[in-house]
Amino acid sequence: MPKVNLIGLLLFSLLTLTQAQTLKIYHIDVEQAASTLIVAPGNKTLLIDSGKNGHGSRIKSVMNTAGVNRIDFFVLTHYHEDHDGGIDGLANDPSITIGKAYDRGDKDELDATTLNEDTYKDYQASVGHNAEQLTRGQTIPLDPAMTVTCIASGGMVIDEVNPVAGTEENDKSIALLIQFGGFQFFTGGDIQVTTEGKIAAHDLVKDVDLYEADHHGSETSSTVPLMEDLKPTVIIISSGNNERYKHPRLHTLNTFSNMVPQPAVFQLNKYLKGGVGGNVPDANIADIGSTDPGGTILTTVDLAAGNFTIAYHDSSVAPFPLKHPGSSSTITSSIVIESLLPDPTVGPDSEFEEVTLHNKGTSSVSMNGWFLKDHNNLAWSLTSMGQIPAGGSKTIVRHGMPMNLNNAGDEITLFGPGNQERDKFKYTSSQPGQFILTHH
Ligand SMILES: [Zn+2]
Repeated sequence: MPKVNLIGLLLFSLLTLTQAQTLKIYHIDVEQAASTLIVAPGNKTLLIDSGKNGHGSRIKSVMNTAGVNRIDFFVLTHYHEDHDGGIDGLANDPSITIGKAYDRGDKDELDATTLNEDTYKDYQASVGHNAEQLTRGQTIPLDPAMTVTCIASGGMVIDEVNPVAGTEENDKSIALLIQFGGFQFFTGGDIQVTTEGKIAAHDLVKDVDLYEADHHGSETSSTVPLMEDLKPTVIIISSGNNERYKHPRLHTLNTFSNMVPQPAVFQLNKYLKGGVGGNVPDANIADIGSTDPGGTILTTVDLAAGNFTIAYHDSSVAPFPLKHPGSSSTITSSIVIESLLPDPTVGPDSEFEEVTLHNKGTSSVSMNGWFLKDHNNLAWSLTSMGQIPAGGSKTIVRHGMPMNLNNAGDEITLFGPGNQERDKFKYTSSQPGQFILTHH
């Protein structure tokens, strides 16, 4: 092989290695609206929402900057014109390909006002008619190094027993937890107090690095129980200069500045109309003029360096360390493994091994569809456990189920509905009759 090819191969490998460690999130300036483009390490893309009617061109220009011409996955969080407006322009552009689209479904229940809206009709005609309903617990296969989990949809959240649908369009938004290694990004569309409250009650999302403020920083979102769970390092607000909505609200900015530790808060645009609306300091606003398209903010996650940066215009804000560098992508859960009994003294292991689970949340959780697996992938179904009440514990006994708690050590993993990993525990030895406590 000629020398030059070897060097080329080396460079290519280095490039691939570097790319595999980097995730880019473009919070696109679409004024009083929302659109977020995620470019995964393997270069596949996820577009969440598409701004208002005509904003396809703004999204396209960001795609050009990012060097991509495919939207592999599109998620419409809810059927409002500031979210579904721009996608038809992209779908009708021959230089752009759109792959799979998801929305919250339930279109037969929409009211006449929404059904007659031009942006909704354009959405339906371009990509909506082919969209798959994304429901709580489903994941989007964006990249093997990432996990994209639907936390809420239609007002119903993961782990909710006897789920109650939302009653208002904003609150029915699809909320996503996007994980890349230890990096966590939560983006909830326009969810408000009810859906936020359910996510907090089930402890579904905790200690994130990045949070895109729900509902453009409205007063009825980013409520305290959710913020106490999220504790984001960085908050980005997609807001414009709309006199009617006055986003972001001073009330919400105060919630953020009262948090300990205090998050770094950024705005895409400056709000200029006074009243109950407010702003973070100018230095943290990408577009202080507010109406031109220069307010896009880029978040770059560098897994190898264990940090992420925020950049807009020519400024780049010093790297923020990841909260959980090096950890793998699992969604947090209120249900944890509390203890194991690998070596029972009352009878054979195959009958009397047991595992106790604990619910750390403030709502009861149905174990329907949950299971445990050992390192050989043998499982116990947990459906028969029924519900575990808030703050309570329940024990399941093996009774011939295939998974074997090896007396000499094992790794036991807890999975929720939809095959999501929720908790994991490794032990290296056991004693007869000994309950091994996980302290989870
Ligand atoms: Zn909105």
